Amino acid sequence: MLKKSEIIEIMDLILKKSNLATKIKFLDQSNFTKLALKSTIIAQTIKEGSTLRSLGIPALFSHIKNTIYLSEQVIKEVLKDEPISLQKRFIQAITYHEIYHIKSSVQETDFNSSLIREEQARKQFKKDFPGLEAVGRKLIRKYIEDNKKL
Ligand SMILES: [Zn+2]
Repeated sequence: MLKKSEIIEIMDLILKKSNLATKIKFLDQSNFTKLALKSTIIAQTIKEGSTLRSLGIPALFSHIKNTIYLSEQVIKEVLKDEPISLQKRFIQAITYHEIYHIKSSVQETDFNSSLIREEQARKQFKKDFPGLEAVGRKLIRKYIEDNKKL
């Protein structure tokens, strides 16, 4: 499996190419959960009965900290057993998806505009990088399915 340093290296390269000085940080499950609950969409979805695990969120971007936070637990589970080339593509997919959030430059606070921003990021990513988007979607779907069996 890719090491944390290798993951950060892949992401750094893409961010630099995009002229972004965004930081990257891994968070353990408890700290990632705390951060995730600050997101209006995630907090509302959990309030309505979903679990964080069932959402399969590998990364979150904080506009205030200009940092992409990675979920150690989700990334580890997604990458394990996958070939290295696919692991790399998944990390690239996460990075490009987050770049759309970085570029949207607004930190949304209410549910509807957060949801619209998320949809816009997904749509734009899918349009610009259909192959990577498919890799990201496939591996996250697998993660969600695996977690249903737990
Ligand atoms: Zn997103």
